[in-house]
Amino acid sequence: MKRIILKPGEERRILLGHPWVYDNEAACILAGPGKEAPRAVLEPGEIADVESSGKTYLGRAFANPHSKIIARIYSPSKEGVDKGFFKRRIREALLRRRAAGYDFRRDSCRVVFAEADFLPGFIADRFTGWPLDELEAAVQERPVTFELAEAALGPPVSWISVQFLSYALDKRRDLILEALEEVLGAPLFVTEDPPGAPAGIMEKPPVKVRELEGLPLREGVLRGTCPAGIVIFENSLPFAVYLEEGQKTGHYLDQRDNRRLAAAFAAGSRVLDACSYTGGFGIHAARAGAEAAVCVDVSAAALETVQENAALNAVTGTVAAVEADIFEYLRRAERKKERFDLVILDPPAFAKTRASLNDALRGYKEINLQALKLLNPGGVLVTCSCSQALDEGRFRRMVAEAAADAEKRPYQLDFRYQGPDHPILLGYDESLYLKCGFYRVC
Ligand code: SAH
Repeated sequence: MKRIILKPGEERRILLGHPWVYDNEAACILAGPGKEAPRAVLEPGEIADVESSGKTYLGRAFANPHSKIIARIYSPSKEGVDKGFFKRRIREALLRRRAAGYDFRRDSCRVVFAEADFLPGFIADRFTGWPLDELEAAVQERPVTFELAEAALGPPVSWISVQFLSYALDKRRDLILEALEEVLGAPLFVTEDPPGAPAGIMEKPPVKVRELEGLPLREGVLRGTCPAGIVIFENSLPFAVYLEEGQKTGHYLDQRDNRRLAAAFAAGSRVLDACSYTGGFGIHAARAGAEAAVCVDVSAAALETVQENAALNAVTGTVAAVEADIFEYLRRAERKKERFDLVILDPPAFAKTRASLNDALRGYKEINLQALKLLNPGGVLVTCSCSQALDEGRFRRMVAEAAADAEKRPYQLDFRYQGPDHPILLGYDESLYLKCGFYRVC
């Protein structure tokens, strides 16, 4: 086993739970045990031990000399990587979701969140429901409910969308998929039904990350079959999800709880769902009794799905889908003196890196400022940022600055993060990316 010896002091972050070793943090690579071991070079995807400069053992890692992150620690001990290892990690990840209240029969969720579930570079989103075309043919009632769907089509089926973001895991892809199928196909406890093995597994990698790891671009169905469109039930509401055509893995599962909580302010309200994607927030608001819910996005495909979701939920009369750039839409709405009682801002990650943070902050501030101006007195702003590079403190300060410019005094009703299926691991700041502030303006 090769050993990555760190430079003095570089172990501090790792001792607090951070799993990465950057290329400039390693003093040398040794070929094996002992002080006199000869120097070596790391092979992409191999397993290596990480030690401090004083030779304190820090953990075992997946290595990739071609990445800026040359090692990702997957275990604090000398644990090997076989199918049993992956099964243990996946089972532990499932137990974490189960403890957070997810019901694998009804609820779709991220079942593995990479480093935050101690499986660096592997992400799996599990969607449970029915094929969209079958459901539309079999169930005429609207809104569609889980019970109606089950009565017509039998028990729900699941599909998984996976991403391999590190070389080492990509190399072990088949082993991981087998482990995933086996763990989901067996009961977590003998007294329970199995969560359910997937009918299909597909891959949808974010291009950029694979390029950084030097991995070929590839996507498609890896196992079984995946229908183009499926219907899942989130907070009991039906949503159409396009696994292959949709953004990311098809549905932003991380906002489930925030959508439910935002909807609590929607009854009788005029609601603006800005950067709506397929209408996650807007549809929840409409179902909670909003007077009107306007969903705005630049993506025409996403807006078609908004209409489809409105139909599945029997809220076509209250939901409008508007194709527009959000900066322009908000300015135009202000000129026309439009007013809303609830505005949700869920833009894409403006800051992809720390370097672009200042530009991103200007963008965030601009839309928050405009959104605050559109609120009626007593109205609620639900404002999100999924930029990991933007920390909570700066995010809040940005909202305060926007409020000062808009001459509003918001007070905080709630402050939330991504859902518990995207665990936040202390010591690994990269795992906290989604901020979601709830503010009422006076
Ligand atoms: N709120 C959504 C997720 C939003 S993801 C949900 O609950 O599912 C961010 C969305 O912003 C994407 O759908 C993307 O198409 C859209 N978007 C990106 N740039 C935009 C812009 N300039 N104006 C409007 N929408 C934009």
